[in-house]
Amino acid sequence: MKKMIYLKTEEEIELLRENNLLVSATLAEVGKHIKPGVTTLELDKIAEEFIRSHGAVPGFLGYGGFPNTLCVSVNQQVVHGIPSNYALQEGDIVSVDCGTILKGFYGDSAYTFGVGEISEQNQQLLTVTKEALLKGVEQAVAGNRVGDISAAVQAHAEKYGYGVVRELVGHGLGRNMHEEPEVPNYGARGRGPLLKEGMVICIEPMINMGRKDVVFERDGWTVRTRDNKPSAHFEYAVAIRKGEADVLTDFSIIEKAIGLAR
Ligand code: MG
Ligand code: MG
Repeated sequence: MKKMIYLKTEEEIELLRENNLLVSATLAEVGKHIKPGVTTLELDKIAEEFIRSHGAVPGFLGYGGFPNTLCVSVNQQVVHGIPSNYALQEGDIVSVDCGTILKGFYGDSAYTFGVGEISEQNQQLLTVTKEALLKGVEQAVAGNRVGDISAAVQAHAEKYGYGVVRELVGHGLGRNMHEEPEVPNYGARGRGPLLKEGMVICIEPMINMGRKDVVFERDGWTVRTRDNKPSAHFEYAVAIRKGEADVLTDFSIIEKAIGLAR
């Protein structure tokens, strides 16, 4: 049976925007507290309180049994890291993935932060991963196919010799956090499901400085690079439109909060 892709009404897209703007604001709040010495569990508490104070519920907490509000993945951890008593260190890079549930819909976006001064190599990984996301977004328009997004993300990352994670992919977003279609970060142009107006998808490149291979840790959640080199992760929720994608996530709020915005 063909899997169902739910098309959203304009009202539903606005509810998804509300969710993803709340996720963006939460990531901005978390970003303000990212510095050497803060534990990833402290960041988790900040996020949970912020989300609840805005009348929403953390989207990841309890999802498939996940124990926390944030997925916090440091350095060689790719995604799904569990907040802990680990204290961030100068030079770390830390992916923070956050979800909300508000008015029956989900938000889901992620940003990778540098802790204090980071190496040039790490900075390039962050820059290129975010660029790869934007290359994907350029292709996220009605009439294209999912493979056009995938191929654009992959080509940009591989130009720098980086590894593109295969085991984890982007997804549709709506009343469920993970809906059809899957949105891989690798693939061929012109392949995969047709993009239609009203589709809402998460595009989320997970890009490794070294090889593409990952290992699933025994905690049942954490995914890390097999070669233990760093990995970065940025995620946007976007609504498919004619001509140009409608980005529901707002990184400018985050970058203003951490002093990166111009
Ligand atoms: Mg996410
Ligand atoms: Mg996601």
